[in-house]
Amino acid sequence: MGGLPAGSVSDIFDVMRYQSIELLLLTCWSVAGSAFGLDYVTTEREGRPVHLVGQIVTEAADGGVLLRDREGILWAVPSEQVVRRTRDDQPYQPMSRAELSARLTVELPGFRLHHTANYLIAYNTSPAYAQWCGALYERLYRAFRNYWERRGFALRDPDMPLIALVFDTRDAYTKYARAELGDAAGNIVGYYSLRSNRVTMFDLTGSQARPQESGRTTTSAQINRLLAAPGAEWMVATIIHEATHQLAYNCGFHTRFADIPLWISEGLAVYFETPDLASSQGWRNVGGVHPGRLDRFRRFLPKRAADSLQTLVSSDDRFRQPDTALDAYAEAWSLTYFLIRKYTGQYIRYLQLMAEKPPMIYDTPEERLEAFKSVFGQDLQALDAEFVEYMGSVR
Ligand SMILES: [Zn+2]
Repeated sequence: MGGLPAGSVSDIFDVMRYQSIELLLLTCWSVAGSAFGLDYVTTEREGRPVHLVGQIVTEAADGGVLLRDREGILWAVPSEQVVRRTRDDQPYQPMSRAELSARLTVELPGFRLHHTANYLIAYNTSPAYAQWCGALYERLYRAFRNYWERRGFALRDPDMPLIALVFDTRDAYTKYARAELGDAAGNIVGYYSLRSNRVTMFDLTGSQARPQESGRTTTSAQINRLLAAPGAEWMVATIIHEATHQLAYNCGFHTRFADIPLWISEGLAVYFETPDLASSQGWRNVGGVHPGRLDRFRRFLPKRAADSLQTLVSSDDRFRQPDTALDAYAEAWSLTYFLIRKYTGQYIRYLQLMAEKPPMIYDTPEERLEAFKSVFGQDLQALDAEFVEYMGSVR
């Protein structure tokens, strides 16, 4: 494959979204939040009081809190920043679609809203592009759910519409994203935020940035043609990759801010990454061979360490280092591919184990390894040999 390896740019960012949480780990998070009642927390941001209303998801021994507000945003407030805290007995309810719509309209002046069954898309590019995104995401949603339900994983429905923001130009997107991503924003074409639970991206066709074409009607077929062009696949893959993360965190696979090993969350996202844009069905090919990742894995094999499987499943380090990240993604895709095909039941059981993990509680590498072995067996070497041999036969 020429050009950039699929998803490479976003993948490096993916790892960063986890790093921002690390600062909070200095606190001991051990007390589960209450499932009932509405929590009110006042804190300060830049010298101004901020009043949060929502549900405390988890609480630190020292009084710090992790609160999910009614918009679905997670706020980690260290104890020294909790100015005031109360609770009443009203039930927590996420914002309705109408409330979210009103909220987004205030937050993003000039944006319009596109509604689909499961998504709420706020955009300031052409309506055709927003509709294209909505249709693509609904196809992914159905493919994702069908795929796992057929394999016995009981998914839950998202408790609120899934939000995606689409900016007209890369510049506008970068300006917005910088608040969350810092300077990395300039290098990535879309991201899923664990904090806000939103996917943010821009119009990949650039139709709004080419005024000479503005009078033309853009159709879904034209958009597909533009994005099927050589060099655009990885951008589309990134948008899907991030939307898959959003699904995984909203359909019961993982809990936001839980310690999900990157091999599993990234392996899962890469597994769904490439849609078939030419087909109206989209993901006919779910779980098919990903040529870019397979090729990368093959090239990695000669230098692959004997304990590669162990380091992959017990630590996120290889995903975090820019010089090892792409090989780690390729190995995560390969391992996911192998386990789903050869050990479906065990893979689902491992996913269920991960789904039970609470937020803010982090495992040691030894604990991660034990969890892996408890499902896939104690003999890692034998499994590794089988894995490498199997991947050698994949075409
Ligand atoms: Zn990812």
